[in-house]
Amino acid sequence: MNEARTPTGGAGGGTWAILVAAGSGARLGGDRPKAFAALAGRPLLAESLERLDGSDWIDAIVVAAPPEWEEPAILLAEELVASKVAAVVTGGETRAESVRAALEEVADDALVVLVHDAARPLVDDGVIGRVLTLLAEGVDGAIPGLPPSDTVKRVDGNRVVETLDRASLVAAQTPQAFVAHRLRAALEGDLTSATDCASLVERAGGTVGVVPGDPRLVKVTTRADLDLVERLLDAG
Ligand code: C5P
Repeated sequence: MNEARTPTGGAGGGTWAILVAAGSGARLGGDRPKAFAALAGRPLLAESLERLDGSDWIDAIVVAAPPEWEEPAILLAEELVASKVAAVVTGGETRAESVRAALEEVADDALVVLVHDAARPLVDDGVIGRVLTLLAEGVDGAIPGLPPSDTVKRVDGNRVVETLDRASLVAAQTPQAFVAHRLRAALEGDLTSATDCASLVERAGGTVGVVPGDPRLVKVTTRADLDLVERLLDAG
């Protein structure tokens, strides 16, 4: 199902956000997809949707919802008066396929597309501004990255092959920003084993820059992550 609505924001040529929320959340358990698990008394999706809708950097939003959950996603957007939501699409089998489906609803004249995981509720204008500012400097993509706190090793089965130089590593977060036509081209190719959009743009020969990430952008995978995000929300 594709539910299209007209954005009230001045979306022409502007910055569109794709909010991917179509994951099943198997590791979280529960009777509903992760985007609809309760976070501080409302669906997890509400937090990132409200934050993106309220951001002056964003002109319009496309949400990728889990199959059968498109209607609840539309109702949630209406309840939140998230007036920048231009469309809610049915997500795909993988994250990359969900992005591809959402991209079809992004206006042809969009210049920039910001892709964000609904599973990272605490997105804010600080990190959005950082990736968009770097993008404006001439790269094809810009991502937030956090230095790993653990020592990271490459392994083969149960054998350590190599200890990687921590100084040259970051863990990639979202929101990730892209020049719209670069992202479109990257998503036309093979999507296998892509865990983020930046890797597809890199694979297509694009340049991707990195800005400081945000430790509050925890990705909710387990119940403990959900509790942690609730505590961070409470702490303001
Ligand atoms: O599964 P994981 O938490 O890594 O997914 C990251 C983000 O991608 C989540 O916000 C999830 O809803 C989204 N996703 C999606 N479609 C899929 C799988 C994941 O939109 N098929």
